[in-house]
Amino acid sequence: MNKFFITTPIYYVNDVPHIGHAYPTVAADVLTRYWKCKGYDARLLVGTDEHGAKIAEAAKKHNQQPKDYADKISEEFKQAWEKLDIDFVRFIRTTDEDHIKMAQKFLQKLYDKGAIDAKPRLYKGLYCVGHEKFMSPEELVNGLCPDHQTKPIEHSEENYYFKLTAYQKQLEQLITSDTIKISPQSRKNEILGKIKQGLEDISISRANLEWGIPLPFDCSHTAYVWIEALINYYTYGSQNNFWPADLHLVGKDILWFHAIIWPAMLLAIDEKLPKQIFAHGFFTVNGQKMSKTLGNVISPDQLVEKYGVDGTRYVLLAAFPFGEDGDFSWDALDRLYNADLANGLGNLVARVAKLCENITISDNNPSINKLVTSIPTTSGDITTLYAKALENYRFDEALKLIWDEIRIIDHYINNQQPWKLKGQNLINVMQVVVDAIRYLNLKLQPFLPETSEKILKQFSGAIKSQPPLFPRI
Ligand SMILES: [Zn+2]
Repeated sequence: MNKFFITTPIYYVNDVPHIGHAYPTVAADVLTRYWKCKGYDARLLVGTDEHGAKIAEAAKKHNQQPKDYADKISEEFKQAWEKLDIDFVRFIRTTDEDHIKMAQKFLQKLYDKGAIDAKPRLYKGLYCVGHEKFMSPEELVNGLCPDHQTKPIEHSEENYYFKLTAYQKQLEQLITSDTIKISPQSRKNEILGKIKQGLEDISISRANLEWGIPLPFDCSHTAYVWIEALINYYTYGSQNNFWPADLHLVGKDILWFHAIIWPAMLLAIDEKLPKQIFAHGFFTVNGQKMSKTLGNVISPDQLVEKYGVDGTRYVLLAAFPFGEDGDFSWDALDRLYNADLANGLGNLVARVAKLCENITISDNNPSINKLVTSIPTTSGDITTLYAKALENYRFDEALKLIWDEIRIIDHYINNQQPWKLKGQNLINVMQVVVDAIRYLNLKLQPFLPETSEKILKQFSGAIKSQPPLFPRI
């Protein structure tokens, strides 16, 4: 059986789940379900990243042990994903014992291969606690970290270094040739541009930080949280004979780690490389960046309360192209929900069920040929285009195609005027319509799993009217 291994970023437990986390996670789930529909052994790995100074500090503020603090937030992420119907194969935590062991094994291999310096180097610089990394002077704006609006602290420490510079030529070639395919294209260009400017060796350990995974070759150091977290993908993949990853879905802010540092680490230990890395965009809410200070952070629960699980999945992915930045507003989401789900899909299903209440429709499996020959449309093309859109991570386009098909079915019903027909004539028209809905439903499944299940049940056997799939807002 063909495999397809998808990962989302594992989220840092200094923050509770919000829609910025839910967005790529739902997208990854849609892809996983899509590949499963195609007969692949598709698996999605999600999880949380739990070590580092920031977590140790946050735990201290709450008078908790770091692990207890991480347990609580990690559980919130897990519950949020379960609530959104995310079909993950494992929720991995970087505090899981098998991950700690695998990370140490990986780091030891890097050390043995000479990819990590034998002795630590002394480093002096400006350190941003929020980022958990040293910042170069060029990265600062008016002396502040532009992301955290805080002044980095002067800091010197001994760190072990990974010899990233050694992989510059190789990485450039692998990315240029799409051996590691980075998309969207604009992001690939950005990464290649940065490689050409030259790579630098990177620090991979911290001294005097207890909340982390000890380096196996020097236990007075713990692994730099980013380096160790990347290994989570390999922890699952290698233990389940499922490596390499077919797709790392990441935010554009962490593309550098996934496109450069992670493949270099794998090259250093002669392991297989991830095939694709896709960087999604970020969104603002009513034109503003989501932030705790502004108090405009939206939790997945808030969306689910309003739109239901499938409604939430829909509005998250339909709003704008996945690789780009966009803006969410409650008004725009309400409009999307009402127009496409309550009116478009919901109305069609209710209307057809009503027309079928007193007739018997045969339970044949919907076949592409039947639909294409019965309804003079480009439906066959829609299916091909839908697959292409999804395989190019254009969820918005795939959804537009589904809604084109809904309009085609509506149009067919309006032309045939089945409400004026009787007996076999009515059955003949409605058989075509019901088959078309069953066929359409296959395309809905990855996006709206619960709704798709309901439609499947409603259009099997005797067809009856049901409460509306999506009550209007
Ligand atoms: Zn910062």
